[in-house]
Formats: sequence, C-alpha cells, structure tokens
Amino acid sequence: MDIKANLETVKKSFINPQCQLIAVSKTKPVSLLKEAYDAGIRDFGENKVQEIQDKHPQMPEDVRWHMIGHLQRNKVKYIAPFVHLIHGVDSFKLLKEIEKQGKKAERKIPVLLQMHIAEEESKFGFDRKELQEMLEDPEFQQFQYVVIRGLMGMATFTENKDQIRKEFRGLKNLFTELKNRDLPGFMQLEELSMGMSGDYLIAQEEGSTMVRIGSAIFGARNY
Ligand SMILES: *Cc1c(COP(=O)(O)O)cnc(C)c1O
Repeated sequence: MDIKANLETVKKSFINPQCQLIAVSKTKPVSLLKEAYDAGIRDFGENKVQEIQDKHPQMPEDVRWHMIGHLQRNKVKYIAPFVHLIHGVDSFKLLKEIEKQGKKAERKIPVLLQMHIAEEESKFGFDRKELQEMLEDPEFQQFQYVVIRGLMGMATFTENKDQIRKEFRGLKNLFTELKNRDLPGFMQLEELSMGMSGDYLIAQEEGSTMVRIGSAIFGARNY
C-alpha cells in the first residue's frame, strides 16, 4: 500500500483544488496514519470515540481530529477537549451535550449538522422539519460553546450517479438557503462536508468544501 502515491492520485483528480481532504483512517493502524502524516496530511477522520482516544496520543500534536461517525451522547466528554470538528451532529439532544462538554472543557467546539439526504432509512441525520424545529427552539438560541460551521451529508450507497448528484445538490441548496437566513452568531456556515472515495468528484462538482476519503487512500477496510 503506497499511501503517498494514493494521496497524490486522489489530489490530482480533484475538480476543486481548494476542497479540503479529510483522510479517513478508521480501522487502520497508527503506522499508516504516520505515513499519511509524513506525506503532508494533518486532517484525520475517525468514526469511533475509542479509536480517536487511542490514536490521538500516538500522533503529533498538530493533527486535527475529525469525528465523522455517529456520536453517542455519553461519549462526547472524551473528545471534547481536543476534537477539531464533529461532522455527524444529528440531534438537538447531542448538540446540547456538546454545549455542556464544551463549557466543561472551556473551549468552543466546531460542529457540522448532519442532514438526512439518502433514500435509505438507516442513515442518520436531521430532516428539514427537525432542523426547522430546532432553529426555532428558544434553547437553541442560547448556545455559547457550540459553533455550527456547516452541514454534512452522505448520499445513498448506489451506482446511480444521477441519484447521488441529486442528493448532494439538495444538500447544497439547503446550505445556501440557510446561509441567506438571519442566523444566531454561533452559526457560521462555511463548510459543506460531502463526498467519500466513491463519490467525491460528484460532490465537488456540486459544491463540497470537504471530502472524507478513506479507502482510496488507505485501501479497503477489513471489519
Ligand atoms: C468510512 C466513512 C467515510 C470514508 O469512506 P470511504 O468510502 O472509505 O472513502 C466517509 N464518511 C463517513 C461518515 C464514514 O463513516
């Protein structure tokens, strides 16, 4: 596995060179993360709190840790002191817990709201109605330690490129719509996290600012 070569191939293929690359290193050993680090990667994505906790002390201080998976409320406290960006915030309850742990850790915690854009029932995320309800909740207006930096979404797992494009486009439209609203100061919508190894080029065409790429860099995962 030549990680440096894989990274070069992936980066060369980018339609938008400004788009940020998050190297998704879940299930992979620290030795491989170090290879990616030596090739210039500083942003790493993991989907399990335990795994971030294990890898964090073994990697250089300037690594930015992205929590990309479903996050359980009772585990927020373990990553609150150092996590760079939580991509998968999918409920108001979780956001309230992040606020609480941010206050304890005395730091603002940047997050993305995960929107449900896929056809599958199983994918996590807010739907438009849930998002609207949260935005209107008086308690929502009070956040001081949460910073909402944008939106995240995962497209349907399908070969149908039109379907994927349609879902990404829908997310981008919602993003633009939200940005044009009168939002509280802690909502600074700059980032649109969409695209993985199989669909990052479509995602970039549709306006992604951040792609989360695992297998195209580190190879297939054995679970
Ligand atoms: C695993 C994962 C990725 C990366 O998937 P690849 O197909 O290996 O690029 C991206 N986003 C999330 C949320 C993931 O869980």
